[in-house]
Amino acid sequence: TRPYLGNPKYTIEVLQKYNFAFQKRFGQNFLIDTHVLEKIIEASKITKDDFVLEIGPGIGTMTQYLAEAAREVVAVEIDKTLIPILENDTLKDWDNVTVINEDILKVDIAALAQEKNGGKPIKVVANLPYYITTPIIMGLFENHVPISSITIMVQKEVADRMQVGPGTKDYGALSLAVQYYARPQIIANVPPNCFMPRPKVGSAVIQLVRYEEPPVQVENEKLMFRLIRASFNQRRKTLVNGLKNSQELDFSKEEIEKAMAETGIPVNVRGEALTLAEFADLANVFNKLR
Ligand code: SAM
Repeated sequence: TRPYLGNPKYTIEVLQKYNFAFQKRFGQNFLIDTHVLEKIIEASKITKDDFVLEIGPGIGTMTQYLAEAAREVVAVEIDKTLIPILENDTLKDWDNVTVINEDILKVDIAALAQEKNGGKPIKVVANLPYYITTPIIMGLFENHVPISSITIMVQKEVADRMQVGPGTKDYGALSLAVQYYARPQIIANVPPNCFMPRPKVGSAVIQLVRYEEPPVQVENEKLMFRLIRASFNQRRKTLVNGLKNSQELDFSKEEIEKAMAETGIPVNVRGEALTLAEFADLANVFNKLR
């Protein structure tokens, strides 16, 4: 058997056979476009050496392609009504796929990578439920799961946020986190008619290729991300005020001013104007204060 679910005809057949009811709360929009599927597979450069984690297989549309390309695939799906469809029907012809019925946010992915891939970097591929895009990506990076690349379908606007730098309205904590850990690249823009049912927003496939070495040197990553969150929590306020009012930080006004002076960053700057390199500098100076 070859991948076949990208053809809408077969997707409809499966949905009808099982009388499947789409669940809005799980962000279920299934891909029905073979070109998009082929593009995702091509961009992710999966080989028979690779272990792939798929988040949210749905009825297994992309999983079929992944199973063809990879050595082994684990697909984590939260919706239990999809499990029998995947196991007994759409994925039954591939013996290198395991389906896990679980919320991805509760899976110990580092342990999975250890067990299935000897701790070597894994590839993550997903057509993500849009409501949990940010926690999933931040979780993968911040927990230092060994990953070589993440190739994901996200809301177009979120893909833009991952790519932009200071001075644009989309710039935020997600931009900085992504760019600290990975090189982002948009692979394809995907219109609503490539999905069933059609989402209300445009989508994009973005690939995040993990850096071996981060582009900036930071002694205390956790502290840097606390500074970043503090400065974006209070947009349009000055950085100094953002840092002073943060629940996550407890530096005094004097310490903040001293640190700012040491980095040469003007005291009246807004947090959203700082580059990743400037946040790194600031974090290194604050780190020395304690
Ligand atoms: N991969 C399929 C495709 O491309 O057609 C389905 C994509 S659909 C946008 C997202 C899938 O993620 C759904 O199957 C949904 O049930 C599943 N999902 C939603 N939240 C999840 C979670 N927290 N953990 C695991 N899977 C989840």
